[in-house]
Amino acid sequence: MMMTEYFPISPLGEEPSAIEAFGSLLCRMAVAHSVSIYVMTTHLRKWWLLKNPLDNRAKINVINTLNPMFCGIGANVSAYLDIVSAATGSPDLIRTTFLPLGTALGSNGVGLVRDGRAWCPACHADDLRSIGAVYDRLLWAIPFIGRCPEHKLTLEANCPQCGALQPRYHHLGRMHLCCRCKHSLQAPPSSWRHDPNPHLHEKECVQLVSELSSGQLVVAKDAWQIFIREFSTYMNAVGKKISKYAYDAPRRPQTNREITPPRFPTLIRRCTAFGINPVHLLSDPAGAAKSACMFEFARLDVPIDRKPLRPPELLKELRRRILKELKKKAGQRVTSKAAIAREFGVSVGFLNYKLSDEISQLGSHRRRLDQMMASANHQRAIAYLLAGPVLDYPSTKFPSHDHLVTAVVNDCGLGVYRARRAVSAALTKMFSSRAYKKYRKANNLHKPRIQTGPT
Ligand SMILES: [Zn+2]
Ligand SMILES: [Zn+2]
Repeated sequence: MMMTEYFPISPLGEEPSAIEAFGSLLCRMAVAHSVSIYVMTTHLRKWWLLKNPLDNRAKINVINTLNPMFCGIGANVSAYLDIVSAATGSPDLIRTTFLPLGTALGSNGVGLVRDGRAWCPACHADDLRSIGAVYDRLLWAIPFIGRCPEHKLTLEANCPQCGALQPRYHHLGRMHLCCRCKHSLQAPPSSWRHDPNPHLHEKECVQLVSELSSGQLVVAKDAWQIFIREFSTYMNAVGKKISKYAYDAPRRPQTNREITPPRFPTLIRRCTAFGINPVHLLSDPAGAAKSACMFEFARLDVPIDRKPLRPPELLKELRRRILKELKKKAGQRVTSKAAIAREFGVSVGFLNYKLSDEISQLGSHRRRLDQMMASANHQRAIAYLLAGPVLDYPSTKFPSHDHLVTAVVNDCGLGVYRARRAVSAALTKMFSSRAYKKYRKANNLHKPRIQTGPT
């Protein structure tokens, strides 16, 4: 065990949500050392200044009468946390405060903790039975908590004897006594008020305290700013587009005020409005923004004829693809716009509308190359025919036009239509047009042959 100059005291509370508050721990420390809170804090301060003479935070005694809610995010809590941690040898006292929330909250923690004490009489009665003393829970410090979630009783805030509120602890740190009349704060069970229904934000606050006390919550710096910035980045794109179609999109006006860190009650209320968990927002603001957007999208009544927005990258990619086609030389096949549209999963109409210049260039380029290729093929087929087949036409090998056409289709790879035109051109070239007609007429070639069977 570590040697400390004060009694080692660690926070009470077995359940994470029932963790002790820092102010309550200081009271128990005063009781353990049999001194008043004033004497104890003065002693602690002096002891600390001997070890750390340059620490200005300990120069003034800020807790000569102890505010019960000494567990917020202020500088004094942070200073006393360091002092008491060193004095008692408890390294994890930060679990008894809301200090980890400091980076996410504004206004120095205003609204985070109550002005005075509040306690569950049944919890205190249980404490007296089990450990012989009472202690205050960190959860009770949150103003949203109006009842004990465990016993379902309204939290007490007044002395049952004198009726006074408890703005501070008993000067000797005896938490079961009234700070004013010094009588017991334990009210008889007959006066306890039953409250069966959970209060608004109670569940969120219980979870927050549980996460804080188990040390699992790592609060992102500027969590609220990150959340709002991410959220509006997503929503602005959608909002703009939909509001164009006479739809009232849920665009939240973004002001400077929204980007400043909120007070604790504002943070909790806004989380509820956004439908997200405060713990989620504090630990992963960007992820929480995505979830909030999902809710907004689900809420949106998008018109059924709305088409999905194409990402701008797709348009760039399409333009690049078309320019590649435009660079092709004669002899290469140019892809049609329909094929490109199919390739990218868009419609031809989308291409015509978005890239009209490029598409008309593609069309004329494709036509020009096709014509060049067609005429090259034509010349090739004529050369092939003049090199042999038509020289002794009609022959036994090529008795008719169809035979010549078949030969061109097979040997030059042309279609039937183009092959026919090539045959006709070759024959015209071979016999001058008029002489050829005469030749056909003289040889009766234009008439179908009459099949004569054997007699
Ligand atoms: Zn209780
Ligand atoms: Zn009293």
